[in-house]
Amino acid sequence: MLSVDEAFSAILAAVETSAPEPTALADALGLTLADDIISDIDSPPFDKSLMDGFAVRAEDVTGGKATLRVIDEVMAGSLPSKVVRQGEATRIMTGAPIPEGADAVVRVEETSFNAENGTVEISSPSTSVESNLMRRGTSMRRGDRVLPAGRILRPQELGALAELGVHTVNVRPRPTVAVLATGDELVPVDQTPGPGQIRNSNETMLVAQIRRAGGEPVPLGIARDNRKDLGERIAAGLQCDMLLLSGGVSAGKLDLVPSELEAAGVGQVFHKVRVKPGKPVWYGNMEMPNGPCRHVFGLPGNPVSSLVSFELFARTAIRKLMGIEPAAPKAVRARMVAAHIARGDRPTYHPARLELSGEGAVVRPVAWQGSADLRSTVEANAMILFPAGDQDYAAGDTVEVFCWDDLS
Ligand code: AMP
Ligand code: MG
Repeated sequence: MLSVDEAFSAILAAVETSAPEPTALADALGLTLADDIISDIDSPPFDKSLMDGFAVRAEDVTGGKATLRVIDEVMAGSLPSKVVRQGEATRIMTGAPIPEGADAVVRVEETSFNAENGTVEISSPSTSVESNLMRRGTSMRRGDRVLPAGRILRPQELGALAELGVHTVNVRPRPTVAVLATGDELVPVDQTPGPGQIRNSNETMLVAQIRRAGGEPVPLGIARDNRKDLGERIAAGLQCDMLLLSGGVSAGKLDLVPSELEAAGVGQVFHKVRVKPGKPVWYGNMEMPNGPCRHVFGLPGNPVSSLVSFELFARTAIRKLMGIEPAAPKAVRARMVAAHIARGDRPTYHPARLELSGEGAVVRPVAWQGSADLRSTVEANAMILFPAGDQDYAAGDTVEVFCWDDLS
């Protein structure tokens, strides 16, 4: 049986990052750039004022005092019409171009304008050459690499691209990810279960997990535990870049998923990982004659197994397709806030509550009844990795934690 790290390696080796697609900036949040972005402009494009005030020659303001003749006025979006000569000043607004001859801006708060004789009195001990102005190209220059290939686009990257006039970018697209729940006991969530039945809660949860990971979910409903229904729905799911099946991968009599996937032409890469919960997880893939390789995960049906094995394995594949690095989950270290007794023959990902305190990251396991106890996970925002074996933890001990949520 593979270890979790071996399973990550197998997924990362099998999944190739998707070919880039030109995408409108408005749709590119969270996607990764396929190419370096080189500036074809200087920013700012001209020497500009950073303040409302007066553009002056710094040498005229010796000792911080001066009385200067106001010769011109320049607003953002217009151009100065006069050269500032000795003893002169131009009234200027934030963002307006610096007039020729001026080499500093005095803030309006440090001036007093005399409308009767058209002069301005300056009282600004701090004014010196370059005060309150920004020279052309000091933020970026034509030819600068502003963003590297592989960068995940956040609001500030999108803003920088917009400043450059790049309105379409080459990014790795969101993979389409089909979700197929399996089980004769399942009813849709808007129905009342009859005797022996339960609601198909995994589909809703997986759809949300796919969306949070950056993928485009495609729910396919419920497949019954017979070869015909399962086979037909698997064929539909293989139209997407990825297919996630929920249930039917363990050792039960009607656990038909692995054999039906193989019958559909999906080659098994691994089945079962040394992990708790989620041991029966299955991963395989299928080369397509005209299109990218399909990736298929059979996730165990127990809700917490489904939740955890998605976060460990399916999310890693989605991120690799999208060019997000690192693709595999990354642990943070946190201190336990209370004692805990860990017992298990497999590494266990235990639902937990992670907080950022004044003293750093602290974590506590939530009370949890195992892989069928989804209710406990609503109290959790993370999972603690307890290594295999018996270990007694004391408050203050450091453990590895994988966070599900944005803690900010
Ligand atoms: P299985 O992996 O198919 O053996 O299912 C394991 C357990 O998970 C069983 O108790 C199932 O009823 C339950 N289960 C399977 N699929 C779902 C689902 N889509 N939503 C909620 N529970 C499920
Ligand atoms: Mg089942």
